[in-house]
Amino acid sequence: MRRSVAVMLTFSAAAALAYPPAAAPATARRVTTAGCVESETARLTRPRDTHRPGPDVVRMDRELNQRLARLRIAIPAQIEVPVRFHVLSSGKRGRVSRAQVDRQISTLNAAYGGSGGGADTGVRFVLVSTDYSDNDRWFNAPADNEIAIKSHLHQGGREVLNLYSAAVGGDVLGFSTFPELQRDEPDLDGVVIDYRTMPGGTYPHYNLGYTAVHEIGHWLGVFHTFENGCRSPGDAVADTPPEEEATDGCPSGKDTCPGAGTDPVHNFMDYSFDACMREFTPGQGARIRKVWAVYRAPSET
Ligand SMILES: [Zn+2]
Repeated sequence: MRRSVAVMLTFSAAAALAYPPAAAPATARRVTTAGCVESETARLTRPRDTHRPGPDVVRMDRELNQRLARLRIAIPAQIEVPVRFHVLSSGKRGRVSRAQVDRQISTLNAAYGGSGGGADTGVRFVLVSTDYSDNDRWFNAPADNEIAIKSHLHQGGREVLNLYSAAVGGDVLGFSTFPELQRDEPDLDGVVIDYRTMPGGTYPHYNLGYTAVHEIGHWLGVFHTFENGCRSPGDAVADTPPEEEATDGCPSGKDTCPGAGTDPVHNFMDYSFDACMREFTPGQGARIRKVWAVYRAPSET
């Protein structure tokens, strides 16, 4: 639990710079523990991501659409994301192989390409570099050392995904920044995942590489499917049925909101076990491409 609070404090510091005074610039993956209140109770018994008390979906969505209208920019059909992969380790711990990195990239491309049965979001990932940092402090407490780590290792512009692997540990599997943060804090932009969540890793129930898929979803601008519970606007995506709470495991027939279809337990932006996750929706893909046009496409100049 302590680590969760530390994560939140780290995020709060970034939030103060990027989103005065509300809204979360960063979010993380944790099992069935949405929100700050639960983070400060002893309910966190399993790993996955957390987010602060809801990103301000309404405000972020309004700003996205206003900027899109004002800028009159084209929304791409395909997006190629250059990935700079930063492996943190403590000696041999966490020193993932190049083959594991490649498998993580392949998993991303399969997930975002819809090969599990979901929509093809149009997003593809290309590994452009892999570097290794043997640093016990960074490796074991990446949230506490987030600014130091990223200011040393972050490379590239707003379209470049800086992906870090470390022992995120405790009850958190990974954490990410939202695209909006990039404007004010470009070096903090990026995604951190627990190395044990990578394909073939050792994290029980969460070792198919879908923590990176989920966190990068946030980096690309999509919210949890349980955002705002049953209340509008939910996650600001029309084709993901709302759900009152995050999913734990892989329940069949989970249906927590009236009249909107069963809960999207197989969606990558829920908290289900990796084996349960398999899809993005067309609406999520459309949102990602809109967000990319506004916040991440390389500038023309
Ligand atoms: Zn998340």
